[in-house]
Amino acid sequence: MDQLPVFFNVKDRRIAVVGGGVAAARKAEIALLAGARVAVYAEQFCAEFDILQPRERLALIARMPLADDLRGCAVVYCASEKVDQNRDGHALARSVRVPCNVVDMPELCDFTTPSIVDRSPVLVAVSTAGTSPILGRMIKARLETLLPASYGQVAAFVGRYRKRVGEKLADLRQRRRFWERILDGSVVDLVLAGHHAEAKAEFDAQLDAAVGGTERRQQGEVYLVGAGPGDPDLLTFKALRLMQRADVVLYDRLVGDGILNLVRRDAERIYVGKLPQDHTLTQQEICAMLLRLAQEGKRVLRLKGGDPFIFGRGGEEIELLADAGVPFQVVPGITAASGCAAYAGIPLTHRDHAQACVFVTGHTKDGQFDLDWSALLQPRQTVAVYMGLAQLAELTRNFVEKGASPSLPVAVIDNGTRPNQRVLIGTLETIAERTRDAGIKGPTITIIGSVVGLREKLDWYVPETQALSGIVMARRS
Ligand code: SAH
Repeated sequence: MDQLPVFFNVKDRRIAVVGGGVAAARKAEIALLAGARVAVYAEQFCAEFDILQPRERLALIARMPLADDLRGCAVVYCASEKVDQNRDGHALARSVRVPCNVVDMPELCDFTTPSIVDRSPVLVAVSTAGTSPILGRMIKARLETLLPASYGQVAAFVGRYRKRVGEKLADLRQRRRFWERILDGSVVDLVLAGHHAEAKAEFDAQLDAAVGGTERRQQGEVYLVGAGPGDPDLLTFKALRLMQRADVVLYDRLVGDGILNLVRRDAERIYVGKLPQDHTLTQQEICAMLLRLAQEGKRVLRLKGGDPFIFGRGGEEIELLADAGVPFQVVPGITAASGCAAYAGIPLTHRDHAQACVFVTGHTKDGQFDLDWSALLQPRQTVAVYMGLAQLAELTRNFVEKGASPSLPVAVIDNGTRPNQRVLIGTLETIAERTRDAGIKGPTITIIGSVVGLREKLDWYVPETQALSGIVMARRS
């Protein structure tokens, strides 16, 4: 190691900062966060200093420091925009033997400032020993995605029980095993979901079981997670974390390989779309399977395309769990309409075009659409139709018959956000034929409204397949 990693207690100690610009304000800010009394020396102070808190621990002093100012400080930061001032500050700190950090001059630094991920009381610090602060920040960004924002609550929660567990479980190995089970189990999920009372009850039960020597079976749980429309980059942090925790995953047709590959490697995978014998599990069978797996004590991931609560039957799937008292959580995903619209360059609302957007299903029951046409034909409104491919001709004909203009723009987005995304543009009159001619197979979403015209200007996404054929064409020419 090039450096000694330490976490330095500076509560109520003095820290001096040289400089009045943005970099100095950042150093003052972090010193204040860590509880120090902060004196900043500069000729002028930028606006960033106005918002620093708490004021009673901050002194802004409009001159350069003297040796006496720095004597006895915990540390000194030299963060002025003027190199001379930093050099002077450093020499002064040296003379009174206070550790000093000088921005952008690693050779003058007694210590460097890490990139931090703050989940207080948990603090992760990343150092590159001053070689590449940007690399440090990139590593920090990765860690930010791994640790839930409320992770500090977990540490605070278990911290309260440390002493009691120590008293009840005297044996070190037994104690360690207990903590490992707790920190990898449902108690943590409950704390993160804000169910503190349930977390405490589960914790107590597990502790009693450990004391009595009867290992209590983990409480199972279901995560109903929206996986978005296809691009794995559109997953939420929370979705990714739960995908990494699950013991078993139930997924269906809409969830692509790119996403499935992010599920924990040794998790069992159950496909609940069409089974080999061409038997589709009914909704009831899926619900029953979720319940059974959770009751076996497993962490069950129910992965759904888009958002689980938008045409996803997510509500039905967790009703049974709620009745049975099995804990579950729901993670929203980017729904097909918004994901596909974004990747097709079609804003769903726009001040000049549409003040409303409705999501409907193009599914028919006994050959009939279950749609309120008068509500759909409102002016200045965008309509996004899910599951409408098979009935596209019927749907567009109905729109025109009920009074919409045949020239109203329509986009059909096939496999939106995926490497094979295709977007077809037409009107209520032409789109069905175009879609048929193009041999579109779906999944597709249909967007109806004048916002579709904006794509001409706002189109930005080049799907991988098109990018590749572009390369081939460029080579040929
Ligand atoms: N819960 C999902 C919708 C499930 S219904 C969501 O919120 O997105 C299934 C329909 O979603 C499909 O028939 C299609 O209309 C739409 N859909 C899902 N993924 C899509 C994609 N990548 N591209 C286009 N349409 C998609």
